[in-house]
Amino acid sequence: MRPQDRVVIAGGGPVGLVAALQLSHHGIPVLVIEAGKELAYDLRASTFHPPTLDILDPFGVTDLLIAQGLKAPSWQYRDRETGERAEFDLGLIKDVTGHPYRVQCEQHKLTRILLDKLQKRDNFEIWFDAKVTGVGQNENLAWAKVSRGGEELTVEGRYLIGADGSNSAVRQTLGLGFDGVTYPEWFVQGTTTFEFRDHIPHLSLINYVSDSTEWYVLLRVVGQWRALFPSRDGETPEEAMTDESIQRRLQGVLPRSEPYPLTHKTIYRVHQRVVTTYNVGRILLAGDSAHLNNPLGGMGMNGGIHDATNLTGKINAVWKGQADAGVFDQYTRQRQPIAVEFVQAQAERNRQLLRERDPATRLARFHETVKTANDPAAARQFLLRSSMIESLRRSEQIA
Ligand SMILES: Cc1cc2nc3c(=O)[nH]c(=O)nc-3n(C[C@H](O)[C@H](O)[C@H](O)COP(=O)(O)OP(=O)(O)OC[C@H]3O[C@@H](n4cnc5c(N)ncnc54)[C@H](O)[C@@H]3O)c2cc1C
Repeated sequence: MRPQDRVVIAGGGPVGLVAALQLSHHGIPVLVIEAGKELAYDLRASTFHPPTLDILDPFGVTDLLIAQGLKAPSWQYRDRETGERAEFDLGLIKDVTGHPYRVQCEQHKLTRILLDKLQKRDNFEIWFDAKVTGVGQNENLAWAKVSRGGEELTVEGRYLIGADGSNSAVRQTLGLGFDGVTYPEWFVQGTTTFEFRDHIPHLSLINYVSDSTEWYVLLRVVGQWRALFPSRDGETPEEAMTDESIQRRLQGVLPRSEPYPLTHKTIYRVHQRVVTTYNVGRILLAGDSAHLNNPLGGMGMNGGIHDATNLTGKINAVWKGQADAGVFDQYTRQRQPIAVEFVQAQAERNRQLLRERDPATRLARFHETVKTANDPAAARQFLLRSSMIESLRRSEQIA
């Protein structure tokens, strides 16, 4: 294949592979360069929002996510101390989406579904165990320096998409700023096969629980619950990650005489950052390489898939002579403010709602949320925003 006849994508995560599938469907050949020996198997994203399900539906991906996951028609905030609930019914937005529910399905299932579909197409190629170490471009081509099997190669394409995650080599080679904050606390996650629903009444598949001393999130995926907690003041990551410490936190959610059956545990730093621009000539950024946010609200991967959809539509238009390269500036104008004003802002609001230390302020905020949930018009507005429909609409309105 001639280099000018393809797009090179750095990174075979959810964003890189969604971009690959969309380009391939537009008839544009794609080469994906993935550093891992195989697709990542990480317990990160598990929530798909309604508009993302709408986007993936024409490719036959949504039905497979539903088949391998769980439909969540509602989700809730809870207050740990009072036990009160604010439940949001996604049926309130059924007039604007074909999928008025969230789907709980791990991102490693999505990437495998995507790869399976891509490998049936003859305009797709993927290299595993191949690491992008640098990028460059001229007026006709963009290229990646790739380290593969002990060899140093240069791989060219008409465009290059950096979908290589938070430590993006593409972003770093371009020398772009990635401003924002890193939270002082770490997020600790324990996964258990214990069935909380047999013991905690009215639990949804997605539960955000506020508390003045230790908030938590309970997320259901097939066969397991994922429980997310903040690290405690003065606690080291090593201390937070011991089995004992995770057991102690789970026992705080629901005391039981036996230890919880733990299947997985992880701890990670949390950032809210955005890159200075998403486009530099023929090199474009999408997903975590361009923006990071805290996971409260499940918006990082969804937002990255929305980037990929916007971007591949523009690459297709330029490829077919229907638009000029100025649309890539528009890509930045449309997607960068969304990462800050919608995604980061909503994720941070969620964190503040959960972690407020002053009990009176926490409860006052919680009661506002209950009021919103119980008022159908207000709940609908809230759902349009939290389900990322409003941010997609806003992005499309930006010239
Ligand atoms: C605990 C947790 C829970 C989360 N929950 C949600 C959720 O429910 N919903 C949601 O929307 N988001 C969630 N997120 C965020 C979500 O996981 C990320 O936003 C998403 O993975 C971003 O996808 P990506 O393809 O941009 O990057 P990644 O998933 O990081 O994929 C990047 C890929 O690039 C490869 N790569 C890296 N460097 C190179 C290189 N130099 N050369 C070649 N390949 C390279 C990597 O191996 C990887 O396969 C969560 C995150 C965490 C940590």
